Amino acid sequence: MSDQYDVELTEDHVMLRDMVRKFADKEIAPVVERDENEHRFQRELVTQMAELNLFGCPVPEEYGGNGMGYLAHAIATEEIGRVSGSLRVAFNMQTMGTAMSILKWGSEELKRKYIPALMSAEILGCFGITEPDAGSDTASMTTTATKDGSEYVLNGRKMWITWCPVADMSVVFAMTDKKAKHRGMSVFVMDMDAPGVSTKAIKDKLGLWACPTGEIIMEDVRVPASNMLGQEGKGFGYLMQELISTRLSAAAGAVGTCQAALDESIKYANERSQFGSRIAEFQMVQEVIARMVVETEAARALVWRCAIQKDKGLVNNNRETVLAKFYACRAADEVPDLALEVLSAYGYSNEYPIARILRDGKVYKILEGATNIMKMILATDALGIKKANR
Ligand SMILES: Cc1cc2nc3c(=O)[nH]c(=O)nc-3n(C[C@H](O)[C@H](O)[C@H](O)COP(=O)(O)OP(=O)(O)OC[C@H]3O[C@@H](n4cnc5c(N)ncnc54)[C@H](O)[C@@H]3O)c2cc1C
Repeated sequence: MSDQYDVELTEDHVMLRDMVRKFADKEIAPVVERDENEHRFQRELVTQMAELNLFGCPVPEEYGGNGMGYLAHAIATEEIGRVSGSLRVAFNMQTMGTAMSILKWGSEELKRKYIPALMSAEILGCFGITEPDAGSDTASMTTTATKDGSEYVLNGRKMWITWCPVADMSVVFAMTDKKAKHRGMSVFVMDMDAPGVSTKAIKDKLGLWACPTGEIIMEDVRVPASNMLGQEGKGFGYLMQELISTRLSAAAGAVGTCQAALDESIKYANERSQFGSRIAEFQMVQEVIARMVVETEAARALVWRCAIQKDKGLVNNNRETVLAKFYACRAADEVPDLALEVLSAYGYSNEYPIARILRDGKVYKILEGATNIMKMILATDALGIKKANR
């Protein structure tokens, strides 16, 4: 697409996009297949992303951000996600699921201690919501936080936590009053080297091989009461708001996946010949390419609309975030599948990146809320049963 049609983008956005694209193509693309195949997490690349202040777009300058906003965050996330699904997660680990939550609900002391260090990647973050028996039904989580003097004592297990084996801190959701269900949930900042914290890596997973994922086990972990974010018992509301940020980031990464699949397909269709012509000349191949273009650009348009609303102050635009998340994450599943049609057998081999893109694209339907949950929010909003935006 020609730049002049990107009417939503300012000059700064275009410069940011070009800079991140160049970085991703130069520094990440040459090593992405090797790192995935060797399950190698490169902290150095995260540091390099931090040096470009990529995590700081929605964060004010006084805490180490650059204040460029949510659209800038979406653009940077897409560009990294286009080249590596594994590294795309950094935007949620360093920014949306950690720094932004501390920014919204943390004390000034917590903000000063953690946010600049997350921005510079001096420390790595993670966030723990999911448990072995509590996925979509977050209010059924059983991790407890019991007040003991000036501390809370955390006990429980968190499952499927991105980066927990390499993280220095975590934003952890726990029940301070189990009987009160979602009204008894609170949120804490927990250092991963605190006594009683251990992690177990999940080694075999479908994709995102260069992205460490695991389980956090908390046994009598003492956290200062001052590490609580916001008020006791308000954690479920904070969780819903945190997801309104992390879902935008996931959706932007999903657009990157679609773009990567489309780029590979265009290249291949123009190179491959059968029956004496380039396969790009066959109308049935063109039909597939057209669908990929539409899905990718429709997803991007929804992501950008959502980000632009946030830049205008509508940060709790739950409906538009869920819409973007649902559409873009479904596209990240379907567009790589269409790419496989174009590349056919070569797409099935590891010689081309489609196999990796296809594997990594699947995750978007699951994390930050499974697709059915997105559908439920959209349908109950449309039917007037429960408004998504309040
Ligand atoms: C690679 C990866 C990284 C992740 N990273 C993190 C992380 O960093 N932090 C974190 O906290 N979590 C993380 N997660 C967990 C993720 O957020 C959960 O997997 C997700 O919320 C869904 O939960 P579940 O997988 O337990 O599915 P379940 O909730 O058990 O759902 C199973 C199926 O039932 C459907 N379903 C559930 N409830 C309903 C309903 N009411 N109506 C209709 N259908 C329903 C779901 O849509 C799904 O299809 C990660 C997951 C993966 C795979």
